[in-house]
Amino acid sequence: MEAESEEDDDRDIGEHNGMERYKSSFHQELFQGPQLMAPCEKCGHNRKRCPADCSYVQYFPAGRRDDFVAVNVVFGSIKFLSVVNEAPEQNLASESLIRHARARIADRVNGFSGTAYQLRNRVNELRAELTERGIPIGGEIIPQIEAEQLEAEQSVVHNGGPCGACRHQRKRCPANCSLRAIFTSQRNADLNNVLALYGVPKFKSNMDRVDAAERRLAAERMIQESRAWNEFPGRGFEVLINTLNQEVQRLTRTLELAKLPFKKRLGG
Ligand SMILES: [Zn+2]
Ligand SMILES: [Zn+2]
Repeated sequence: MEAESEEDDDRDIGEHNGMERYKSSFHQELFQGPQLMAPCEKCGHNRKRCPADCSYVQYFPAGRRDDFVAVNVVFGSIKFLSVVNEAPEQNLASESLIRHARARIADRVNGFSGTAYQLRNRVNELRAELTERGIPIGGEIIPQIEAEQLEAEQSVVHNGGPCGACRHQRKRCPANCSLRAIFTSQRNADLNNVLALYGVPKFKSNMDRVDAAERRLAAERMIQESRAWNEFPGRGFEVLINTLNQEVQRLTRTLELAKLPFKKRLGG
């Protein structure tokens, strides 16, 4: 209402007073209004005023620019919000998605599965060393998802029709469509998982950001992440990473305990 009558008022009270009024309302807005704090990183990124009810401010308050940029590049901010809103625990899901995004920025081919691979290799090294020393490895706590989620899809079955992604987007699937070899008619479940976590445009742009020779692998890694997110909503691949982390710690302890008397024996 104020804004509507402002022009008339300014004419009456003159330029100087108008400016003072502008200053004082700016001052009020800055120090007393809901905009007390700097805009959230999304609104700051878009150079927009951050409304009091901004949906992003709780996830990307001022100062979390790198997190916002990573999420915006990898998932897109709108997708991020819809995935978080559908998750059982929204704050946990948001932090997990941010870590997923940052992992994909750090390793554009493997993303989070790069970390999982390193951990699994470490588990295998530790197991081998324990076996070599004749030490029982103990409880097999790695769940089945390990094998399932770390094996990239090998078989490629081309079919003549459009790929699932183009069909979903109601687009013509060109002969050189980069998703044709991936989203065959046998992989509808994978496509649905990818649609839920990434959506086709971001899935594609994440693929396009890596060298051509590694695009297929990057795609399979994103499919694995999407599968894991579907299986463990709000945590996704982190479930596997946490399990592997625990196993590395457990095997390391087992090895250290077994080494201890051996060393003593050598020393004495
Ligand atoms: Zn905002
Ligand atoms: Zn296609």
